[in-house]
Amino acid sequence: MPQSILKSTHYIELGSYQYWPVLVPRGIRLYTYEQIPVFLKENPYITDGYRAHLPSKLCLKSIFILSNETVNIWSHLLGFLLFFSLGVNDMATVLPSAGASREDYVIYSIGLFCFQVCMLCSVGYHLFCCHRSEKTCRRWLALDYAGISVGILGCYVPGVFYAFYCNSFWRQVYLLTVLAFILAVFAAQIHPLYLTQQWKKLRSVMFCSVAGYGIIPACHWVWLNGGFDSEIVKVFFPRVMIMYLIAASAFLFYVSKIPERYFPGQLNYLGASHQLWHVLVVVMFYWWHQTAIYIMKYRHNQPCTDYSSHG
Ligand SMILES: [Zn+2]
Repeated sequence: MPQSILKSTHYIELGSYQYWPVLVPRGIRLYTYEQIPVFLKENPYITDGYRAHLPSKLCLKSIFILSNETVNIWSHLLGFLLFFSLGVNDMATVLPSAGASREDYVIYSIGLFCFQVCMLCSVGYHLFCCHRSEKTCRRWLALDYAGISVGILGCYVPGVFYAFYCNSFWRQVYLLTVLAFILAVFAAQIHPLYLTQQWKKLRSVMFCSVAGYGIIPACHWVWLNGGFDSEIVKVFFPRVMIMYLIAASAFLFYVSKIPERYFPGQLNYLGASHQLWHVLVVVMFYWWHQTAIYIMKYRHNQPCTDYSSHG
């Protein structure tokens, strides 16, 4: 076999088969966990399939090769396309047919824009984390975290807007506190220690509290609407719970590194926790978007009564 072909073939483990030959563009090779630079050593249960030491151009090119980041990159690239087309569909058909007001258009634009930003920041990080410069990799990681905050904001805006549709005081209170919360997280992300191992727990705590804060307006909303017997609560509360269930399971996969910790080396390319986290984030945003459409239609059909506007 000519030397050039030998050079560009890499054998990977997929499932229990040890040797799947994969053609890799010249200049890109895959490394094992032991071979990669320290700043890439995040997950010892992913033992092979790492890209590393690449200039920007080859990082971009590597989108077309099978590495342990391929599913991470494409899941959120497809997620971006999903939310982009949902936006086009909302603006062209869903909102006009629901008799949406200008406010509705603004709220949906903000929500879907946030989701798209979140997806693109994530794609950027997973594409460029293999950059030869650690600084570049860190910058993309910071952007990935910022993108998650933006995604959370994209959930809050339509959620709070339609939940407190008939109560502009509390709507403003919750929108402003959420915004303040997200800005505080952004401020923390600029801190030089933010991306270090020491702050790992603090990072998780911050994201959990920003996401968990939503429990407060949710309970308040149940109370304002007359408790669990009221019709609107019966319709929407389960949807909110499902949202938190998806978010919690996504986060659990993310932090626990399950399932690959039980099958080290076997889920390098497919089925690893970070991939499940990515898919669940897309599912969660999609679920929340559908819920927002649902509650908007409900609100248009059932205008605010005096009871709820004074609640
Ligand atoms: Zn990711």
